[in-house]
Amino acid sequence: MDIVVLGGGAAGVCAAISAARGGRKVLLVESQGCLGGSRTATGVDTFYGFYTPKRQERIVGGIPWEIAGQLTHANAAFERTNTYGAGTGITYDVEMLKVVYEQAVLASGAELLYHTYASEVHVSEGLITGVLLANKQGLTEVSANVYIDATGDGDIAARSGAPFEKSDTNELQSLSTIFFMANVDTAAAKLVSHQKLAAKMKEANRSGQFVLPREEGSWHITPNPGVIQANMVRVSGVDATDPYALTLAEVEGRSQTREYVRFLKECVSGFEQAFLVGTSHHIGVRETRRIIGEYRLTEEDVVEGRKFGDGIACCGAPVEDHGSGKDTRWVYVSDDGYYHIPYRALVPQKVNNLLVAGRCLSATHGAQASARNSAQCMAMGQAAGVAAVVSLEQNVQVRSVSTGLLRERLRSQDVIL
Ligand SMILES: Cc1cc2nc3c(=O)[nH]c(=O)nc-3n(C[C@H](O)[C@H](O)[C@H](O)COP(=O)(O)OP(=O)(O)OC[C@H]3O[C@@H](n4cnc5c(N)ncnc54)[C@H](O)[C@@H]3O)c2cc1C
Repeated sequence: MDIVVLGGGAAGVCAAISAARGGRKVLLVESQGCLGGSRTATGVDTFYGFYTPKRQERIVGGIPWEIAGQLTHANAAFERTNTYGAGTGITYDVEMLKVVYEQAVLASGAELLYHTYASEVHVSEGLITGVLLANKQGLTEVSANVYIDATGDGDIAARSGAPFEKSDTNELQSLSTIFFMANVDTAAAKLVSHQKLAAKMKEANRSGQFVLPREEGSWHITPNPGVIQANMVRVSGVDATDPYALTLAEVEGRSQTREYVRFLKECVSGFEQAFLVGTSHHIGVRETRRIIGEYRLTEEDVVEGRKFGDGIACCGAPVEDHGSGKDTRWVYVSDDGYYHIPYRALVPQKVNNLLVAGRCLSATHGAQASARNSAQCMAMGQAAGVAAVVSLEQNVQVRSVSTGLLRERLRSQDVIL
């Protein structure tokens, strides 16, 4: 193999597509039975980050925009204003995204391997020489010239000895089980504003009849009539790279879901006849390991809208920090602008043939709470795929790739920089 991409979430999908379109032999390894990670298996059905919040300037193009276009073309997506002022999102049918991602990867020529966990990593003299894959055939090893860690959790970077952190002054963001309900009278339910809903949650908690850990969660309509998606559950204090803690979080997330469903049915008009049709197959994980790369994006960079000479993606999404309290911390990019994610934030220290893409980028807790938006994770994936191709063409280590050439190549693929 020329390039192996570990993890098929938003970032990994776009990394595999761009690397394969660059003419390279690519394998995409995914532990679950579908592509998309948080975007599908977790049920998070709205892409944010394509537009700046107030000006509505589109700042992400390339493969992510192609994917969004295919969903719209299939009549499986619509634009929607964010409940918290974070701009316009693209809400889509999760089942359709599974197919769109899969078809796009296969059409690119990349090979796809499901139900396979990347486990151990072999390293020699600063280079990964192989990754052990665990699946129904036992343990097998795959080797490539360049590896892209898109596991969200930085599994490969961590196991190859690249430095990482899990939290600085702040705790890791909370986890959420997303749930879908059907048979909702959405016209009636929409009459209860977000503020009124939050007040009802507070009142329900005060009454002692309900235990609702997050009081400002929200629901929204989906492309399917009468079906809504809800992001209300909050499971705090969990390190999702600890499998036992993650297991308990899944149990807690489903238990909280039942409580929120009971609350909605008993306390909110429009939900009286509704029923639960689905929960995340994998609880939503916002933050685990963040690698320490050649540059560490900071919350200051985000809020001040900093641009970098090696910028490979634009982001205008606010810091959205889901702590353990009942509220969420929102901090907006100044002047409704955007900042750059630098290429160096995808380049881990110490390991010379590895890139990361997605929510495990090199960023502080606060900066990751902005850069982790799905449009940016896809954009990082595309950039990592192109960078891997360029490093092979130039026969240089990934940290020595010409960022001028990388940016030129990205622009030629309709990436907005
Ligand atoms: C509850 C929640 C709500 C959110 N809401 C929004 C929103 O409304 N809009 C928005 O834009 N963003 C939102 N986000 C953020 C965004 O969805 C994620 O940050 C982004 O999708 C992460 O993409 P990723 O590819 O980096 O990681 P992930 O989505 O975590 O994908 C990682 C993939 O790698 C696979 N994997 C992991 N480890 C291994 C391994 N060792 N071997 C093989 N495969 C592996 C996983 O199965 C998964 O498919 C939300 C996130 C959460 C959790």
